[in-house]
Amino acid sequence: MSEWPIAIITGASRGIGRAIALRLADRHAIVAAARSREHLESLAGEIRDRGGRCTPVVLDLRDPDAIGRAFGGIAADVLVNNAGIVTLKPFLEMTSGEWHEMIDVNLNAIHHATRAVLPGMVQRRRGHVMMIGSIAGRSAFVGGTGYGATKHALIGLSESLYLEVRESGVKVSLVMPGSVATEVFADGRDTSWMLKPEDVAETVAHVLGTPDNVLVHRVEIRATTPRKK
Ligand code: NAP
Repeated sequence: MSEWPIAIITGASRGIGRAIALRLADRHAIVAAARSREHLESLAGEIRDRGGRCTPVVLDLRDPDAIGRAFGGIAADVLVNNAGIVTLKPFLEMTSGEWHEMIDVNLNAIHHATRAVLPGMVQRRRGHVMMIGSIAGRSAFVGGTGYGATKHALIGLSESLYLEVRESGVKVSLVMPGSVATEVFADGRDTSWMLKPEDVAETVAHVLGTPDNVLVHRVEIRATTPRKK
């Protein structure tokens, strides 16, 4: 595709994924994946206007075969497993459909995407798999049964995977933000105290930029401004 290192970013059509794509585009050829073609094309246009490279990939991450077809042939240097569904509801109010969609996008899709690119990374002895987790991966709260379950699972997956592949020259990191002002909170509430998507993107860039012998495996990002009551 190019001599630039290639970074695949899922959920790049908006929010945190879009910010990560824009942040990494100064040094990486971006493969931007999500369902919204229009948003991905606008992202690609913005990156090209800045002199970067971006290939939009329209896909539904609930479809394992589509993930394999989309990512299997890419010699990725970086995979950012960012896409996620944030359905916060008490267990008894959550439908089975909502539960399964969250497991499919927040967990199963990470398996399929990572499975598609990791063998190549191990073979080339180079690569970085970045997971976007959440503080919800280690704290309990009312309404967090499904979402929290996926983000707790991500901690176990990420830590085991880093132990499995670190001697192959491949890094695995988990970035766990607190609340971030994205469409997830676009219900009119005050988001001014929250982290911005760009804050998460900056952290991702920092973790990717550490020397070869250093792995920042897990990072929590918190806002310094307290939530207004
Ligand atoms: P967002 O604004 O809702 O964006 C979600 C992204 O995921 C979109 O690009 C969406 O693209 C993509 N996506 C969702 N379902 C998909 C599917 N079936 N197939 C393909 N793409 C799909 O959410 P966000 O706040 O940026 O969150 C991004 C990640 O950060 C998630 O993993 C979330 O759990 C995590 N996180 C968020 C916060 C927060 O406070 N916002 C805090 C901690 C962690 P399309 O709709 O175009 O498909």
